Amino acid sequence: RVKKQGKNSFQFFESTMDHSLSRELQIEKNLRTALDHNEFTLHYQPKQDILTKHIVGMEALIRWNNKELGNVSPAEFIPIAEETGMINDIGEWVLRTSCQQNKLWQSKNLHPVTVSVNLSARQFLDPHIVETVTSILEETQLNPKYLELEITENVAVHEKDYVNKKLNAMRQLGIKISIDDFGIGYSSLSYLKDYPIDTLKIDKSFVDEILKNGDSSIVRAIIAMAHSLHMSVIAEGVEVQEQLQFLKDHKCDQIQGYFISKPICATEFERLFLKA
Ligand code: C2E
Ligand code: MG
Ligand code: MG
Ligand code: MG
Repeated sequence: RVKKQGKNSFQFFESTMDHSLSRELQIEKNLRTALDHNEFTLHYQPKQDILTKHIVGMEALIRWNNKELGNVSPAEFIPIAEETGMINDIGEWVLRTSCQQNKLWQSKNLHPVTVSVNLSARQFLDPHIVETVTSILEETQLNPKYLELEITENVAVHEKDYVNKKLNAMRQLGIKISIDDFGIGYSSLSYLKDYPIDTLKIDKSFVDEILKNGDSSIVRAIIAMAHSLHMSVIAEGVEVQEQLQFLKDHKCDQIQGYFISKPICATEFERLFLKA
């Protein structure tokens, strides 16, 4: 592969590049058969009401175990699934499985919670996404009010009327919309008041600021803004009591993070959070 036997540093550089390229290609190759081989599972992470301490929801987070690669983090494979377009099929599986699981829990008469599903930009922009969500709701018989889609700010940079039309169509189904990792994206704030959004999810990086400074002006600003726009607000990545107290003092509505629980498998979630 190396055309010329040059200096050592040159060879070293080439082989490092080859290595990272092959990891990406390995992931891509194995991702293609992962659905058929049942290699994905979902973990669920609870969302807690900050005042009542009730578990009001859970976020579905995909996990991938592959024979060749072992466990691969979604932070690594979701971007590859997006680039290659595989995210549409994988995302549909996540949606269906989350809705089925939530419906199953409800039919066992466990206390009802909302399930939140991450939707990547490419999925959101898929012209068939509203039909897909509609048919999964029909198929699973989950009441739409117990489904939420988490989208990132980056979708807002796309054509405003198109985004707005899509969000409204989703809202019309009766499901909820939240903006994930809020505050770190590139979008302007002006779109916020026009879009039908239920919840802002404060990014972990701002929640971390609370620990560094004993304060976070961004956290306070996001909470104030959400409430003035009649949206609710949740903080992600809450790890310690001090963060929780700050968020409570500043009227954040919900929290999520290791302080409550890490993402766990369905059996554990049911045992820990849905049984009286
Ligand atoms: P996200 O949606 O912002 O999810 C939050 C991530 O932070 C999760 O990582 C979660 O395990 C982790 N986390 C939660 N609480 C804490 C905490 O207190 N401390 C720390 N250090 N981390 C915490 P995970 O599961 O590895 O997922 C990473 C990202 O991958 C997600 O970020 C999301 O963007 C994406 N992702 C995961 N599942 C799916 C999926 O089904 N579909 C799509 N499109 N993306 C997904
Ligand atoms: Mg999320
Ligand atoms: Mg997030
Ligand atoms: Mg985040």
